[in-house]
Amino acid sequence: MFGGGMMKRMAILNYVMQSGGKVAVSEIIQELDTKEKDVKKAVDWSRKKMGMAIHIEDGFVVLAPSAMAQLQKQKQGATVVQERVVYMIKCDNCQHDNMQGTQKCTNCGAPL
Ligand SMILES: [Zn+2]
Repeated sequence: MFGGGMMKRMAILNYVMQSGGKVAVSEIIQELDTKEKDVKKAVDWSRKKMGMAIHIEDGFVVLAPSAMAQLQKQKQGATVVQERVVYMIKCDNCQHDNMQGTQKCTNCGAPL
Protein backbone atom coordinates (compact mmCIF):
# COMPACT_ATOMS: atom_id res chain seq x y z
CA MET A 1 0.00 0.00 0.00
CA PHE A 2 3.00 2.35 0.27
CA GLY A 3 4.86 4.09 -2.51
CA GLY A 4 8.22 4.48 -0.79
CA GLY A 5 10.17 4.30 2.44
CA MET A 6 9.46 7.91 3.39
CA MET A 7 5.70 7.51 2.96
CA LYS A 8 5.78 4.36 5.06
CA ARG A 9 7.69 6.08 7.85
CA MET A 10 5.31 9.05 7.88
CA ALA A 11 2.26 6.77 7.89
CA ILE A 12 3.64 4.84 10.86
CA LEU A 13 4.51 8.05 12.74
CA ASN A 14 1.08 9.52 12.03
CA TYR A 15 -0.59 6.38 13.25
CA VAL A 16 1.34 6.45 16.54
CA MET A 17 0.49 10.13 16.98
CA GLN A 18 -3.21 9.63 16.27
CA SER A 19 -3.25 6.78 18.77
CA GLY A 20 -2.12 9.17 21.50
CA GLY A 21 1.61 8.37 21.49
CA LYS A 22 1.49 4.68 22.44
CA VAL A 23 0.39 1.85 20.19
CA ALA A 24 1.15 -1.86 19.91
CA VAL A 25 3.59 -2.83 17.14
CA SER A 26 1.19 -5.65 16.15
CA GLU A 27 -1.64 -3.11 15.72
CA ILE A 28 0.46 -0.96 13.38
CA ILE A 29 1.40 -4.04 11.35
CA GLN A 30 -2.25 -4.99 11.00
CA GLU A 31 -3.75 -1.53 10.43
CA LEU A 32 -1.12 -0.26 7.99
CA ASP A 33 -0.51 -3.61 6.28
CA THR A 34 3.20 -3.42 6.99
CA LYS A 35 5.97 -5.55 8.51
CA GLU A 36 7.60 -5.58 11.95
CA LYS A 37 11.00 -4.69 10.49
CA ASP A 38 9.45 -1.64 8.79
CA VAL A 39 8.01 -0.43 12.09
CA LYS A 40 11.42 -0.86 13.73
CA LYS A 41 13.08 0.94 10.83
CA ALA A 42 10.62 3.83 11.09
CA VAL A 43 11.24 4.17 14.83
CA ASP A 44 15.04 3.99 14.42
CA TRP A 45 14.96 6.49 11.57
CA SER A 46 12.83 8.96 13.53
CA ARG A 47 15.08 8.74 16.56
CA LYS A 48 18.43 8.92 14.73
CA LYS A 49 17.66 11.20 11.79
CA MET A 50 14.90 13.39 13.27
CA GLY A 51 16.13 13.34 16.86
CA MET A 52 12.66 12.34 18.05
CA ALA A 53 11.97 10.84 21.45
CA ILE A 54 10.50 7.58 20.16
CA HIS A 55 11.29 3.97 21.03
CA ILE A 56 9.88 0.45 21.17
CA GLU A 57 9.12 -0.91 24.62
CA ASP A 58 7.45 -4.26 25.46
CA GLY A 59 5.95 -4.54 21.97
CA PHE A 60 4.64 -0.96 21.97
CA VAL A 61 5.85 2.03 20.00
CA VAL A 62 6.10 4.87 22.51
CA LEU A 63 6.31 8.52 21.50
CA ALA A 64 7.32 10.97 24.26
CA PRO A 65 4.97 13.93 24.91
CA SER A 66 7.64 16.37 23.66
CA ALA A 67 7.81 14.53 20.33
CA MET A 68 3.99 14.51 20.13
CA ALA A 69 3.96 18.30 20.49
CA GLN A 70 6.69 18.61 17.86
CA LEU A 71 4.71 16.54 15.35
CA GLN A 72 1.42 18.30 16.07
CA LYS A 73 3.06 21.67 15.47
CA GLN A 74 4.31 20.49 12.08
CA LYS A 75 0.86 19.19 11.23
CA GLN A 76 -0.82 22.50 12.16
CA GLY A 77 1.65 24.37 9.96
CA ALA A 78 0.75 22.14 7.02
CA THR A 79 -2.98 22.71 7.60
CA VAL A 80 -2.58 26.51 7.58
CA VAL A 81 -0.74 26.35 4.24
CA GLN A 82 -3.48 24.17 2.80
CA GLU A 83 -6.24 26.60 3.88
CA ARG A 84 -4.43 29.45 2.20
CA VAL A 85 -4.17 27.52 -1.06
CA VAL A 86 -7.84 26.57 -1.22
CA TYR A 87 -9.21 29.96 -0.06
CA MET A 88 -12.34 30.75 -2.10
CA ILE A 89 -14.48 33.85 -2.71
CA LYS A 90 -18.23 33.30 -2.68
CA CYS A 91 -20.18 35.15 -5.39
CA ASP A 92 -22.79 37.59 -3.97
CA ASN A 93 -25.05 36.95 -6.93
CA CYS A 94 -25.14 33.15 -7.28
CA GLN A 95 -23.16 31.86 -4.23
CA HIS A 96 -20.68 30.07 -6.51
CA ASP A 97 -17.22 29.52 -4.98
CA ASN A 98 -14.50 31.19 -7.02
CA MET A 99 -10.73 30.89 -6.68
CA GLN A 100 -8.99 33.70 -4.81
CA GLY A 101 -7.80 36.37 -7.28
CA THR A 102 -10.67 35.83 -9.75
CA GLN A 103 -12.14 39.15 -10.96
CA LYS A 104 -15.49 37.89 -12.21
CA CYS A 105 -17.62 34.95 -11.09
CA THR A 106 -16.82 31.96 -13.32
CA ASN A 107 -20.46 30.83 -13.03
CA CYS A 108 -22.57 33.96 -13.63
CA GLY A 109 -20.00 36.62 -14.62
CA ALA A 110 -20.85 39.06 -11.79
CA PRO A 111 -17.88 41.15 -10.53
CA LEU A 112 -16.45 39.77 -7.27
ZN1 LIG B 1 -21.89 34.18 -9.55
